[in-house]
Amino acid sequence: MNNFLFGLGQIKSTALFTILSVVFSVTLVTFLECFLNSQISKNSILIAGITSTTVSSSLSWYVIGLLFKINTLEKKQRALASYDSLTSIMNRRQFFFSAHELFRRSHDLNEPVSISIIDIDNFKLINDEYGHAAGDAVLISLGKLLKEIIRSTDIVGRIGGEEFSIVIYGSKSDQAFEVLDEIRSLIEKDCVAFMDYKIHYTVSIGVADGEDGYDVEDILIQADKALYKSKKNGKNRVSKY
Ligand code: GH3
Ligand code: MG
Ligand code: MG
Repeated sequence: MNNFLFGLGQIKSTALFTILSVVFSVTLVTFLECFLNSQISKNSILIAGITSTTVSSSLSWYVIGLLFKINTLEKKQRALASYDSLTSIMNRRQFFFSAHELFRRSHDLNEPVSISIIDIDNFKLINDEYGHAAGDAVLISLGKLLKEIIRSTDIVGRIGGEEFSIVIYGSKSDQAFEVLDEIRSLIEKDCVAFMDYKIHYTVSIGVADGEDGYDVEDILIQADKALYKSKKNGKNRVSKY
């Protein structure tokens, strides 16, 4: 039970229990002392009882509040370490960690998996023409779109400045190619409203099969080579490794 008290960890739950136990024990002892000491009047016993109970319960609530605050801060800190502050999707570190897990699961369950790199076309031009803040708005819009599109079994992360990656679970690159081409087509239709501008953008995509015994980093290199093909062949397209 200690583990799950208010969602706190074992150490904090134990600390909370210890503090509460000490406070309540002190209260109980005070009461007993008052009762056993017949020289003290009934009013004194009542006042001592009310005072000690009030003090102990206030202290308990204060400690509970404090632990809740620490817990919330810790959650916020964990989110900051795992999610990209601009797009609110997984950052590179968390994405690689989750991708490793998906690769391992696909290996254990003998399910296919593929990984893609999505790179915004001519992003430098967007920054130059509309300004860096407009470029940021495009990144936010793309992150939101990708997050909404992927299935709950897939993962998406921002792995570089204007580079994103999706791990598609349960599909080899042939099937993933179709899905990614639909995604590419949806992105082509996305319109980012920034100040008076309506910004359209496209992406190039490279996809590779996640293979048993290979690391996420190695497969990403293959996806990157496929991405290079897409760029070389005119951008706004998907290529397989
Ligand atoms: P290509 O079609 O070949 O991919 O060309 P590109 O212009 O998209 O690629 P390039 O690598 O030349 O430029 C990427 C630009 O992305 C350069 C950098 O200033 C910009 N960038 C990187 N991170 C951010 C960011 O967080 N916000 C904004 N606004 N721009 C960024
Ligand atoms: Mg790039
Ligand atoms: Mg680019």
